[in-house]
Amino acid sequence: MSDAPIAISAVQIGAAEEALVLEVLRSGHLVQGPMVERLEATFRERCGTAHAVAVSSGTTALVAALEVLGIGPGDEVITSPFTFVATLNAILATGATVRFADIEARDFTIRPDEVEARCGPRTRAVVPVHLYGQPAAMDTICEIARARGLAIVEDAAQAIGATVGDRPVGSFGTGCFSLYATKNVTTGEGGMVTTDDDEVADRIRLLRNQGMRDRYDYAVPGHNWRLTDLQAALGIPQMEHLDRIIAARVANADRLDAGLGDVPGITLPFRAPGRTHVFHQYTIRVGPDARCTRDELAAHLARAGIGSGVYYPRLVHDYGCYRDRPDVVVDPTPIAAAISAEVLSLPVHPGLGACEIDRIVDAVRDALAR
Ligand SMILES: *Cc1c(COP(=O)(O)O)cnc(C)c1O
Repeated sequence: MSDAPIAISAVQIGAAEEALVLEVLRSGHLVQGPMVERLEATFRERCGTAHAVAVSSGTTALVAALEVLGIGPGDEVITSPFTFVATLNAILATGATVRFADIEARDFTIRPDEVEARCGPRTRAVVPVHLYGQPAAMDTICEIARARGLAIVEDAAQAIGATVGDRPVGSFGTGCFSLYATKNVTTGEGGMVTTDDDEVADRIRLLRNQGMRDRYDYAVPGHNWRLTDLQAALGIPQMEHLDRIIAARVANADRLDAGLGDVPGITLPFRAPGRTHVFHQYTIRVGPDARCTRDELAAHLARAGIGSGVYYPRLVHDYGCYRDRPDVVVDPTPIAAAISAEVLSLPVHPGLGACEIDRIVDAVRDALAR
């Protein structure tokens, strides 16, 4: 059995990606060209939306979605305190005020009743985060949003291909995806906005290219949010094989589940009924009854050559730069606070086979079950 290091994530780029990138290089059309359109088509198809608009990153996708929905100063946006910092930064970039809804302990996504409790006269939007590839409770969140007239901006950065019932994430409101290097589908850097709303799509298309409607005819002051065709070319084969990518992640998660199910003191990832988990991360909780702490387990794995990650070690607003800001309202979220001290993500990416997964299982059992 090999004892090569096992990384928490690995980029998988093959001959198909290389061939398409070379095609772009030889075509001379490097930006916002046919490859970008092809990548957009794969997202339309996958998400079942009328539109998919490629932008330069997942963060840009969130900012663009919120901006075209008219979110700005004086508005409140509710999101999860247990997310990557980009979710928070994107909301702040619009000038809106952020409020936080606590999360469901089992699936790590925002609780609909908590969203409801944070709603007030200024609330304009909710940003559920499909954390680790597990969709949030979109059915109930959609009901609340409809009743209150809120926009839904899904942070689906980690969840391309996940579904709720028979609906793909990204189809419940305005969907925001990241194509960053570690995500399930990557173009290095990149992002995508999905929507059924013609006007939202049109406005983002305008804003991403300096507000230019026709050559040197500017309709609005815009930005440069463009994606290159070199980047888009990388993503196309991965989107075409997305089912295979997800199946490999789920198979690895199944094998981790089978090997770790009886380890005392840890909680394995929960798969919410009716919501498919695409396992961007396989995240366990190391509880107070476990034989060692979360950080000790991570150190033990590191000694065995196995990478792991803490996503995320603190609540997203729990940093000096967000303290004492009137636009960051620190609502109490005790469940999220407790969970951030317990989570540890184990490698689950498609580059791993049964042997590597068994090594991870053995190393975890070594620390906690022997
Ligand atoms: C990666 C990520 C983002 C930001 O995407 P970038 O492409 O890195 O800008 C936003 N939200 C979540 C939950 C993410 O994981």
